[in-house]
Amino acid sequence: MSHYWSPFVHSLTPYVPGEQPKFANLVKLNTNENPYPPSPRAIAAMRREIGDDGASLRLYPDPNADCLRQAVVECFAEFALSAAHVFVAGNGSDEVLAHVFMALLRHGQPILLPDISYSFYPVYCGLYGIDSVRIPLDERFAIRVDDYARSNGGIVIANPNAPTGHPLPLGDVERLAAANLQSVVVIDEAYVDFGGTTAIGLIHRFPNLLVTRTLSKSHALAGLRIGYAIGDPALIEALDRVKNSFNSFPLDRVAIAGAAAALSDREYLEKTRRAVMRSRAALTGHLERLGFDVLPSAANFIFVRHPRRDAADLAAQLRQRGIIVRHFKQPRIDQHLRITIGTDAQCDLLVAALKEILE
Ligand SMILES: *Cc1c(COP(=O)(O)O)cnc(C)c1O
Repeated sequence: MSHYWSPFVHSLTPYVPGEQPKFANLVKLNTNENPYPPSPRAIAAMRREIGDDGASLRLYPDPNADCLRQAVVECFAEFALSAAHVFVAGNGSDEVLAHVFMALLRHGQPILLPDISYSFYPVYCGLYGIDSVRIPLDERFAIRVDDYARSNGGIVIANPNAPTGHPLPLGDVERLAAANLQSVVVIDEAYVDFGGTTAIGLIHRFPNLLVTRTLSKSHALAGLRIGYAIGDPALIEALDRVKNSFNSFPLDRVAIAGAAAALSDREYLEKTRRAVMRSRAALTGHLERLGFDVLPSAANFIFVRHPRRDAADLAAQLRQRGIIVRHFKQPRIDQHLRITIGTDAQCDLLVAALKEILE
């Protein structure tokens, strides 16, 4: 603390990301990264962008990242988007979300958030002075959209939800958007490629619906920091205005080239997401046989608890064996663990370690 600080900084509660350990050879199942490498086309495109002498890096990137916008439009050809429906200029979807909170959710009224969801949302509320009301998930950790029928300054929902992995049916998203035409409904689809249903097709009918996405999870590019949002052009214009009041060039040349190539490689996405979903089914079975309750998941992680073992203790014992998973010291979920789906070899190591711990 210091009197040099702007006063509001004293009141911030920053987000705490999952640990990124400095040493290798850990089985890292704590931050929902993809266990497979990114598309080879993305790697080739990034190499091409740098070239032999790196000369292109002398120059600023395209401030609007038009070629990446176009790649998003083509990636979702079935939804007939135009570039005006797409905002790509955020350093990861976290930054896209930050702009969303600033540009679209500061109306004086509290916004609605599930009580258990991505813990960055309340952090942005703190940063931008937005009040929120937490709507409890039901006893099976599902979102009940009827509980959101109250006046609000906006609604933010992750679908599938994190850290539960629970998917909201498209009909529920539609009902939520239709019932809240006076405010913005944000659907964070960070995990949708692993088994959810996208709401992008609804944006033409609902000018209040904004879908956010990231290349960090299903495209295995967490290190590149690329997110985007899709919605009515008026929503996108607000995001562009905020972005252009913050940073003209949030995406660098290498990231733009790599992300556009990754989005265009549909076959690779299909192959790797299928592999993750297969491993998820197998791991779910193994853990259930060890006595765990495993919530059905449409994401690249599972949310589990053991009826007779303390979750924090399990996490600590796994860590001693070189395996890290995520534990949240938070009411309602402090007896759960969130486990990222790794390769089958990593899942096998996890199961073997848990067997040993439980014996
Ligand atoms: C991982 C995650 C994000 C952030 O992704 P980045 O693009 O890496 O910033 C956003 N929302 C949810 C729910 C996530 O789990």
